[in-house]
Amino acid sequence: MTVKPFKTLDDMSDVAGKRVLVREDLNVPMRDGAPSDDTRLRATLPTVTQLADRGAIVLLLAHFGRPKGLRHPELSLALLTRPYSTLLGREVRFIDWDEAEAAVSSMQPGAIAILENTRFFPGEELNDPDVIERMARLGDLYVNDAFSAAHRAHASTEGLAHRLPAFAGRQMEAELDALERALGSPEHPVAAVVGGAKVSSKLDVLTHLVARVDHLIIGGGMANTFLAARGFNVGKSLCEHELAGTCEEIMAAADRAGCTVHLPYDVVVAREFKANSPTRTVNVHDVAADEMILDVGPAATEALGDVLKTCRTLVWNGPLGAFETPPFDTATVSLARTAAALTQGGGLVSVAGGGDTVAALNQAGVADDFTFVSTAGGAFLEWMEGKMLPGVAALAR
Ligand code: ADP
Ligand code: MG
Repeated sequence: MTVKPFKTLDDMSDVAGKRVLVREDLNVPMRDGAPSDDTRLRATLPTVTQLADRGAIVLLLAHFGRPKGLRHPELSLALLTRPYSTLLGREVRFIDWDEAEAAVSSMQPGAIAILENTRFFPGEELNDPDVIERMARLGDLYVNDAFSAAHRAHASTEGLAHRLPAFAGRQMEAELDALERALGSPEHPVAAVVGGAKVSSKLDVLTHLVARVDHLIIGGGMANTFLAARGFNVGKSLCEHELAGTCEEIMAAADRAGCTVHLPYDVVVAREFKANSPTRTVNVHDVAADEMILDVGPAATEALGDVLKTCRTLVWNGPLGAFETPPFDTATVSLARTAAALTQGGGLVSVAGGGDTVAALNQAGVADDFTFVSTAGGAFLEWMEGKMLPGVAALAR
């Protein structure tokens, strides 16, 4: 086994009886006082159960919503304690900050508690030393299991890691392992699919990727901007014409790096952007002035599938078309199924992330067939941009 650049739960000895502060992402959507999607809660279970089973006193730290340093009762983590306990199948107590020291000192090995919303402290988001100290006094060890919050240098996500012995939780470990395989030291050839609405929101992603991948597949609304930069008429399509020069620069950088940029050569167009409006599939030369490009065409999609067949690694962020509105999900679903089949066949390591990307993969029914699907929106994108995430950097050995 190779030594990881960060410590994990495997590097923790003698946890029995130790108080372990565990930063998790418990920021779930609520409906009628209950979590309407418990994906994030389920992802915490391996770390929490393993620590409790080893006799640790497990103290969960998390933010909940955006209270901006004020005590909003509707953003109290007390609301999550019972649903979390039910999901975990173990007793979980809730501890407010005022009573924390006394409450923690009465806990037995193996016991689990959720501490109140970290963002009730105005200093949490400022990485304030007083807040770090107040949290650190409650624990002997620190575990960060919230990759999705690791792009923020807050007291509970970064500051604590410098104050207590720090370890990556299982979820954090899985995420870092997957991203390392996809972009850190991937097996080549590597393909990246970058789609979504706008070039402007993913400029840093594109710039970082062209130097690292062998194939850059551009889809979605951003492909329109690249096509327009190449001189094609994209009609009424979503397009950032002012970024033509930037697109040229990205394509030139790709050229220098030996990265092949794939733009669609057939597209699906419509006059109206609504479900099941009449469409045409046309060559990119033949888009009419009153039409908009809403999906990659079938011939290009098939060719992209063939590109993936030659690759060992795939990173994917952003849908190829306006996938929320049928039939403009066709290319995304089709290419996602190809990637899933190649992954299941053992030939491809596939890693995907991004809010809409995850929704699209679920829509295609293939999220479980990818090697790894990241649910960390902002943190995943910053990783794709090549940025060092403060919460991850603080865990370095
Ligand atoms: P992610 O959340 O995975 O990072 P983005 O938010 O960047 O993805 O992009 C997703 C959005 O891009 C979707 O709402 C989708 O409808 C839109 N989109 C994709 N292709 C097009 C297109 N051709 N025209 C307009 N919108 C598009
Ligand atoms: Mg999005």
